[in-house]
Amino acid sequence: MASSNDNKSTEGGFQDGNSDPNDEETNELCPGFKDVDAFVKYGLGAVLSATKASAGLPQAGDDYDFYRSFPGFQEFCESQGDKLLHLMSQIMQHHGCRSHMRDRNKLTGLEERFDLVVDSNDTILERAGILLDEADGVNRSQQPVMPAGFQPPKIVVSSWNRKGSGSGSRPETFRLLHAKNVARPQLKFKEKVDNSNTPFIPKIFIKPNATKPLPSYFTNKQIRKERPEDLDVPAALADFIHQQRTQEHVEDMFAHPYQYELDHFTTPENLLSKPEVQMYKPMAETKCSFIDTLEDLVALNEKLCKLSEFAVDLEHHSYRSFLGLTCLMQISTREEDFIIDTLELRSEMYILNEAFTDPATVKVFHGADSDIEWLQKDFGLYVVNLFDTHQASRALNLARHSLDHLLKHFCNVDSDKRYQLADWRIRPLPDEMVQYARTDTHYLLYIYDSMRAQLLEFHHGQPGLLQSVWNKSKDISLKKYLKPIFTEESYLELQRKQKKSFNTQQLTAFRLLFAWRDKLARQEDESTGYVLPTHMMSKISEELPKEPQGIIACCNPVPPLVRQQVNELHLLVQQAREMPLLKAEIAAQKNKGLTPIKKVDVKLFGPHDTSRVHESDLPHFSSDDLPVKQGILFSEDDHKMDVDIQKIKVLTAPAKITLFESDQTSLSVAHMKASRIIESFENPFRMYLPPSDVHINKNAKFDPSSKIFEISKRWKLQSIEQQHKELEAKRKAKEEAKEQERNKAKQSYQESLQNVATVRQQDSLKGGGKKRERVASEVGESTPKPSKKLMKSADKPQKTEPPSQESFTPFDYSQSDLSVFAGTKSKSNTQFDPNRQAPDFKKKVNKGSSFVFFLCKFKHANMLTFFLIIIILYRGFRHNWPKR
Ligand code: AMP
Ligand code: MN
Ligand code: ZN
Repeated sequence: MASSNDNKSTEGGFQDGNSDPNDEETNELCPGFKDVDAFVKYGLGAVLSATKASAGLPQAGDDYDFYRSFPGFQEFCESQGDKLLHLMSQIMQHHGCRSHMRDRNKLTGLEERFDLVVDSNDTILERAGILLDEADGVNRSQQPVMPAGFQPPKIVVSSWNRKGSGSGSRPETFRLLHAKNVARPQLKFKEKVDNSNTPFIPKIFIKPNATKPLPSYFTNKQIRKERPEDLDVPAALADFIHQQRTQEHVEDMFAHPYQYELDHFTTPENLLSKPEVQMYKPMAETKCSFIDTLEDLVALNEKLCKLSEFAVDLEHHSYRSFLGLTCLMQISTREEDFIIDTLELRSEMYILNEAFTDPATVKVFHGADSDIEWLQKDFGLYVVNLFDTHQASRALNLARHSLDHLLKHFCNVDSDKRYQLADWRIRPLPDEMVQYARTDTHYLLYIYDSMRAQLLEFHHGQPGLLQSVWNKSKDISLKKYLKPIFTEESYLELQRKQKKSFNTQQLTAFRLLFAWRDKLARQEDESTGYVLPTHMMSKISEELPKEPQGIIACCNPVPPLVRQQVNELHLLVQQAREMPLLKAEIAAQKNKGLTPIKKVDVKLFGPHDTSRVHESDLPHFSSDDLPVKQGILFSEDDHKMDVDIQKIKVLTAPAKITLFESDQTSLSVAHMKASRIIESFENPFRMYLPPSDVHINKNAKFDPSSKIFEISKRWKLQSIEQQHKELEAKRKAKEEAKEQERNKAKQSYQESLQNVATVRQQDSLKGGGKKRERVASEVGESTPKPSKKLMKSADKPQKTEPPSQESFTPFDYSQSDLSVFAGTKSKSNTQFDPNRQAPDFKKKVNKGSSFVFFLCKFKHANMLTFFLIIIILYRGFRHNWPKR
């Protein structure tokens, strides 16, 4: 392995390790092949047949297991496997990579080996790239012009240099695409990244070059800073409060801060006439400054403000961050190049708005679409007076519109886009990357001149075509950054792209995994691709592994967060497996947005009760069925509402079996009371909910792009109107009820006394001395104090009908210890016993509590409900009957 480090850099990747470099001089690259082409052709043929053969091998699972049961097959596999591993090891050794391919003793062997292969492939490809460059005559040892004081990169401790151990004096080459172990720049950000599932609000707070002042929302730090997550209340409520507070600012909050200026911007005459094409300075003679201090940034801004044009580009990183990070800004003037460390100056970058929004200065970008968004997202920067060379390239109908092509076409410069996907977070920045970044803007002003000249030439000096490019560029500068918003439906769009037809369980798994991934990515500030790449998510959904290990097996390499949370993921998969399985065709039709063949009436208690229905009759509860068109919930157009009413009914249909059966014809006292109590339960957020009790997606918050703002406004109005109506109706009903109740009150009072008498009679029949005393005191014959309490409750208008004896048998409360509610503690009553306490209660609160018995007897009444009722009854007893 160590010997490989002595390989000369001229050595070709195709050569055998033992071949003599002098072979090249014999004019025969490989013995038996007349030229490289012949060799490549042969190699490709061999690779193809090998691939074909490997595809023909028995598939994992039944086929393989079957063949595997033959010792001959088994032996053959072993020997061929070893041979392959040996060959791979040799190739890897040749390239100086780690190569323990044949260690097969560990459980993790396969995974480890896969990593080795991936690493080696990267190394080999990178070396091939370097060699091809050299063959092209690109001299990579040329050092870029660096500002004084800029440190050459130190050895970065990460994956690409670990394997080089023993390399001695060999200079480190950076393998940039897979930089691991880079310190997270987010940790040093002064302002926390906002990954919340809320729309993006511009970061601007001062507006240079304004003709329309910045709305107060942005200048008022107080409102701006108070984000929902700062409020010490549940998330949903915090969002709501925040929404209410910022209601009046909503339009401003999501508008483009420079909309007005851009709308009123017209391209100056001189930019529409024939330009003087100014040649670029050779890169080697151009000063390049690395800006990473506020002082230098301020100086740069002042310099830029004096210019009539400058070129800009950005480098961005999106793998280890949820929203992505702008890592570098390159600026070129006619005289100088600047590289700004935007990770370091992230919070200060806004000062450049002075130059960037100055209509007198042209900003030249190439393909600015993403740059415009990144500038807003990370720095609150906007561009007024943009020229996009990509748009110019389109207008000129050039063969290709990439920057490389323009560089070649206009400057005869060969660029090397290899670093485009490099990890731009690396600091200090390696020379090669600085060089690369500079090239992106260094020639751009010259290209801008040349293109304008050509655009005019094309139209014989008429400015039409050039004007169209200015207009298109302006449209790009008007783009607004939109944060990715998670909704209950987001997963469907992604799932459709997978081109896989999922059944209900698979679709559910995909939905749950998608939600898990989104949540975790936001929380950990990682890209969703880092948390769980889509193809792995799709694979897990497809396979629905029964064991956590199966989830791991679907991922290669296993993402760290998947490994960490494999149990959570397993629970989600299990949950998906519990879904009623729907035929794949129906699911597929659903996915295509088609109406399913049949709609079934729901005759079930709940969607999970599949006991009495055949699988094919099951209603489809995929999110496709939900009234997801948020607009519909609040629509003024009632017909629209009707369209989905069937679906909504499915969701809001009353359960067929209920705890509190409400058949009006045969109501017992207990039933009556139960229904009254239930009626009195008020959702404290009722006033904030839209009129009907349809299910509302909690993500149906405002979203500037989907017009939910209008809805949210209407929402408020509607709910107020609705509240008035409801209040009115309630008031009337209450008055009627009161009248009735007054009539019943006396009767009820008599009954209650009678009841008490019955107890006493029962008690005296049984002859319990102590109990008799206690009961006597309860009814207030001998001791006035407790009686006052009881009288009060008895005086209270009773809501009940006379008890129907068949349906309700009173408990024998003579057996109870009534002292619990009389203020004195009973020694024997420290443990909860519904059969004892409930009757006590009943006695105390009079007939109102007969409901408690009902509950106690009811097999399915759970303890929580029970306690809730007790609390409410008790509160009622204390003249605190539930109020809103
Ligand atoms: P450029 O303007 O070509 O320098 O690209 C700017 C940034 O865009 C790079 O730093 C990358 O983050 C991103 N980028 C460019 N090209 C690609 C691509 N093909 N795929 C993904 N990201 C890209
Ligand atoms: Mn760019
Ligand atoms: Zn670039």
